Amino acid sequence: MKPKQNQKPKLETARSVTELRAVVGGWHAQGLRVALVPTMGALHAGHLSLVQKGLELCDRVVVSIFVNPTQFGPNEDFSRYPRQMEADAAQLESTGAHLLFAPGVEEMYPPGFSTSVNVKDLTQSLCGAFRPGHFEGVATVVTKLLLQALPDVAIFGEKDYQQLLVIRRLTRDLDIPVEIIGVPTLREKDGLAMSSRNAYLQPDERQVAGQLNRILFAMAEKLRAAPGDVAAVRQWGLEQIAEAGFDTTDYLEVRDAATLETLENIRTPARILAAVRLGKARLIDNIAV
Ligand code: AMP
Repeated sequence: MKPKQNQKPKLETARSVTELRAVVGGWHAQGLRVALVPTMGALHAGHLSLVQKGLELCDRVVVSIFVNPTQFGPNEDFSRYPRQMEADAAQLESTGAHLLFAPGVEEMYPPGFSTSVNVKDLTQSLCGAFRPGHFEGVATVVTKLLLQALPDVAIFGEKDYQQLLVIRRLTRDLDIPVEIIGVPTLREKDGLAMSSRNAYLQPDERQVAGQLNRILFAMAEKLRAAPGDVAAVRQWGLEQIAEAGFDTTDYLEVRDAATLETLENIRTPARILAAVRLGKARLIDNIAV
């Protein structure tokens, strides 16, 4: 007997909300459960692990690719953000995703668009402090994607930890009927968190970049041994980052894992979060303590 072929579905593409709703509505009418994986494309194995999670949890997986202009600041990398739609579609098809939603900017933000979603809590510090307007752009586009696709489950990476908390909060506050799932960060062999922006790194910078997660892991070890030493461990981490050869540190913080409030000692689950700059790249990473 021939071994059963692991059949992958043919990837469909929707460019408009109408097409997206027709496909997802058809699935829901058949009683199928649907997962949505929002991305900005330039897909790597980290994104594909989110798709895989969707396939485990649901019958159908929709992946959106939209480089969302409203979450980039005026001096940020919107225009040079990597775009590779054909290669992305091929990767999605071989992973087993069912539908690619790839709207244009006019579909998402038609003329006269004037509404935004502002999550007041959770967005003031960390990336919110260094990227004014970023989380409002993220919250607005994710709210739109959730209402456009009406998935049962939506999947996000812990790589963007603050974003994950913001999205959990907005779905709760706005009663959007979706289950939000967080997936652990997928890393390169040296521990660097996979990111579309790693493509900006020159070879010598790439060597330095791998030190960030090592420093965060070492900080977590130190804090497990001495939970009251948050200030000293943070100072040690800042020095390590500077010595490793990063250009600048936007932040290195030890925060409550649920509220992102600052901590003086570790009593509840905590998270170490960092953003550093290296050449043309801004790298973020975080780990649990
Ligand atoms: P992006 O395309 O960068 O907006 O990311 C799309 C989704 O993939 C977000 O939920 C990210 O948190 C997630 N993601 C990005 N990098 C990784 C990674 N290395 N491991 C797991 N998830 C990731």
